[in-house]
Amino acid sequence: MEIPSLCTDFHEKLANMPSCNHHLVMNTCSAEKVPPEQLTGQSDISDLQNAETWIFDLDNTLYPASCRLFDQVEKNMTRFIQQLLDCEREEAYSVQKTYFQEHGTTMSGLMKNHGVAPKEFLDFVHKIDLSGVPVDPAIDLALSRLQGRKLIFTNGSTDHADNVTGHLGIRHHFDDVFDIVAANFIPKPARSVYDQLAELHGINPATTVMVEDMAINLEPAAAMGMTTVWVRTDSSWGTKGADGDHIHHIVDDLADWLGRIVSTEPATA
Ligand SMILES: [Mg+2]
Repeated sequence: MEIPSLCTDFHEKLANMPSCNHHLVMNTCSAEKVPPEQLTGQSDISDLQNAETWIFDLDNTLYPASCRLFDQVEKNMTRFIQQLLDCEREEAYSVQKTYFQEHGTTMSGLMKNHGVAPKEFLDFVHKIDLSGVPVDPAIDLALSRLQGRKLIFTNGSTDHADNVTGHLGIRHHFDDVFDIVAANFIPKPARSVYDQLAELHGINPATTVMVEDMAINLEPAAAMGMTTVWVRTDSSWGTKGADGDHIHHIVDDLADWLGRIVSTEPATA
C-alpha cells in the first residue's frame, strides 16, 4: 500500500515530543493527504468486520489530541523531575527528553538512573484535568456496535486509562487494559510486550486489529499478522515509521471511521 509522504519537518520543538498528534489536530500538511477511504479499499473492510479482537491504544487514539491532554502529562513529568533533581525546568525537560529517547519512556530512564518507584511517577504525572476532553457520543456508539472483544494497550497506567475512558463514558466497552505495569515497564514497540499481551489474552493475530496513533507501534502488530489501523498524525513523533507496509488502514477521525465500519457490517457478522 502506498502511503503519502507526510510532513516530517514539523516544528522542531515537537519532533521528539509524545504530545498531541491525533486525528482531529489541525493539519498543516493537508495538501499531501490522501482521503482515508482511498487508502482503505472496500475489499479490506471484511478483515475488519470479521475481527475477533480489537486492540486500541489510549492516548491520542481514543480521544483527540486537539484537546492537548497529553501536554498536561508532559508538564507533570517535567515537574516531577524538577522536584526529584532539584533543578530548573529547562534542565528537567532536557533530562525528560533524553531519557525518553534513550530508554523508550521517561519513566524507564528515571527508574534505571534514579531508582524512581514507577507507581509514584505514574500517579504524579496522571493527575490531570479532563474537563477539556470532549465526550464524544459517536465513538461510544461506534464501540457499542463494533463486533469482537476490545482491549486497551497503553504505555501509560491502568488508572490513567480508567480515568480517561471513564470520563469519555466508554470504559465498559473494554474487557481489559494492558498497561506499562503489566508489561513489566517495557514500552511499545518492544515485540516482547506484544507477545506477552497475545499470550495473556489468547489473541489470534490473524483475527485481530490494532489501532494506534504512533505508526512505529504498529510494526510489531503487523509482523505478528494483525491488521493495523494508524490514526494519522502530523507530528514527526507519530509519523515515524509511517512509510512502511505495516500500515494497513489510515484514519483521520476514529469515531467516524469506526461508524462507517459498523454501518456496513454484514447482517450475519
Ligand atoms: Mg497514543
